[in-house]
Amino acid sequence: MNSEDGSTKKNRDKKREPCISPMPHEIPSAVIQVDRTGVIIGWNQHAEQLFGWPESSVSGKLLIEIILPLRQRKNNTDFWVHLQKNASTTHSSRPLEYRLTRKDGNEFEAGLSITKIKGSEGDVMNVSISDISPSKYTEEDRILSEVICQSAPEAIIVTNAHQKILFINPAFSRITGYSAKDALGKTPRILQSGRHDSTFYQTMWQHLNKYDTWQGEIWNKRKNGEIFPEWLSIQRVNDHTGEARYFIGFFSDITKRKKIEDKISFQAKHDPLTGLVNRSVIRERLEQALKQENRSHKSTAVLFVDLDKFKAVNDTLGHLFGDLLLKETAKRLLQCVRKTDTVSRSGGDEFLILLTNVSEKKEAAHVAEKILKRLAQPFHLEDQTVFVSGSCGIAVSPDDGESVVTLFKHADLAMYQAKATGRNCFHFFTKKMNRSARSDPVLESELKKVLSDQELVIHYQPAIHLRTHQILSLEPFVRWRHPRHGPLLPEKFFPLAEKSGLISQIDRWVIHTACEQIQRWRTRQQLQCMLSVNISNRQFNDPSFPAFIADTIERFDCPKDLISIEIQENVLTNPNNIALKQLLDLKKKGVKIAIDDFGTGSASLNTLSKYPIDILKIDTSLINKIHLDTRKQLLVQAIIDIGHRFNIKIIAEGINKKAELECLKNLGCDWGQGFYFNKPAPAEAFEATLKLYT
Ligand code: C2E
Ligand code: MG
Ligand code: MG
Repeated sequence: MNSEDGSTKKNRDKKREPCISPMPHEIPSAVIQVDRTGVIIGWNQHAEQLFGWPESSVSGKLLIEIILPLRQRKNNTDFWVHLQKNASTTHSSRPLEYRLTRKDGNEFEAGLSITKIKGSEGDVMNVSISDISPSKYTEEDRILSEVICQSAPEAIIVTNAHQKILFINPAFSRITGYSAKDALGKTPRILQSGRHDSTFYQTMWQHLNKYDTWQGEIWNKRKNGEIFPEWLSIQRVNDHTGEARYFIGFFSDITKRKKIEDKISFQAKHDPLTGLVNRSVIRERLEQALKQENRSHKSTAVLFVDLDKFKAVNDTLGHLFGDLLLKETAKRLLQCVRKTDTVSRSGGDEFLILLTNVSEKKEAAHVAEKILKRLAQPFHLEDQTVFVSGSCGIAVSPDDGESVVTLFKHADLAMYQAKATGRNCFHFFTKKMNRSARSDPVLESELKKVLSDQELVIHYQPAIHLRTHQILSLEPFVRWRHPRHGPLLPEKFFPLAEKSGLISQIDRWVIHTACEQIQRWRTRQQLQCMLSVNISNRQFNDPSFPAFIADTIERFDCPKDLISIEIQENVLTNPNNIALKQLLDLKKKGVKIAIDDFGTGSASLNTLSKYPIDILKIDTSLINKIHLDTRKQLLVQAIIDIGHRFNIKIIAEGINKKAELECLKNLGCDWGQGFYFNKPAPAEAFEATLKLYT
């Protein structure tokens, strides 16, 4: 009905025809009665409610003008024909679906049933209308769900309560490689990768059964055997009794995301240049190792390796070669340790190495030796051949520290000592190093004037025969008579003196002054004993040092075999042998060699056979309370036995108590030194003591 024809208009204008059948107001749906021309002749209350028009406003009007949306009215002929065609004479005509409009313009999906009723004036039609929008949406939802499932990029899998797969979507097949034919009827176990243990699945099911949901990362296996990571959410759907009916899983392949995450996490934990782990990782691993140590009774060693002359390579060949050198260094370091150990670059040319499950210190020494050997080999960097070496400091738990911070600090200090000793060597941390390292700028500047201001003074202590009390040697110890702080022990200012290099001058001053003093005592008091001087490791880098000793001895006319020099054990572990050469030079001049603080460092008894050692001084820590400690007794006994075999004199240091003395005598120790006999004293005070012995 595109336009109103004449008959329609006439009908409309005509007086309203009487209702042939009463309007069914009592029926719970909207019923509109129209005559054969489509004019409304009846409109029940439900119609009023549904359309918003009162009967008075619509009666006599064309149905299509009231209920059809404006845009459809041009096709109204079709509508009308359609209605008539579907009108049945019974009450059960098939509903037609139309989109209708209300008074307020809102549209809704309507179901229309048309019943034709015969009347005296001709047929009328009862159009019964109901709003079917809700059921319409349900249907649409179903279609939508279907579309979503099919086109979702996420895999969807539905199982029954017994985990039989009932449904998978195309994304499932795309990700796993399993078609519906492969998967339906099976269980999700077809996807298991074997990467998770039974506890993982147990925990997952417990959570799922408790909270009806679980989500997490899981490794699964595709049909082709490839293992991949997925992000999986599982939903448990229950029936009305609360029993599981379905399990619905949604997952996506997160291989790409994992790769990015792995890359980010790698970057956060690794040094971009060498690929080694960074300081924060080694810190974590050390923490972990220290925790486990208590259970395993093994130690953990921290090696601090610093390249010697790296700056020179950077400055002369450029940073590109510097980088190549660092990369190659990293490779070499990795080759020197076990897989379970950790090598990290902590910055610049500094590397930290963690050795776990260490039973003995010498294992760490062995690794350090290996590292130094590898680093000393030429580096072929593109067209350049570069020679460098490394210096290594070692701290071993629990003796050198039980915390990350202390072990790092002590390895660092030991490395610094290795540098001071002449590089290309390793040093174990010793307690003496710890007297270090707090920087004190005021003290440092005051120290510079210590020699010119004559603020140094020497205290002497004898080493004596434990039975006869004959003096074997006198040992000079330097003190700083500080104008404000009073007398300072070496531990207070040696680290600063070592740092500034002033230690060499101090050593020379002590040797010079002590030689002068002992010569005076020799002539005045007929003293016949050695002068046993401490020298810092630095002297082993100074080629003029042996000559200095020779000159001093000559100058004061000291018998050469009455001078002994005390060196640290660590000097013996320096593989570059400068120390050995210098020792031999000094030996040739008649000077005796003593190893100080023996038993605390890394020198093995075997090293003694390689060096021309005359005297071994057993460290205070082994003597302290030796009478109460059988382990110490066994160790000291072994040192004494070896000493006797090699014709080395053994001196026990730091004898404080009579009980210690008696114990040492029983072990066959001949010589000793300590507060029990004499405290170190300045020359004038010491003269009185000397009289007792001479
Ligand atoms: P050291 O050569 O092992 O000297 C022994 C240290 O123990 C000395 O401390 C001495 O005073 C102290 N001592 C001696 N008997 C006992 C004892 O019975 N009980 C205890 N608790 N201590 C005792 P000092 O003078 O503080 O020297 C410490 C270290 O500093 C020396 O260890 C030596 O390595 C170094 N040192 C001292 N003077 C000089 C020096 O003139 N030149 C160099 N290069 N180093 C020196
Ligand atoms: Mg000494
Ligand atoms: Mg000592």
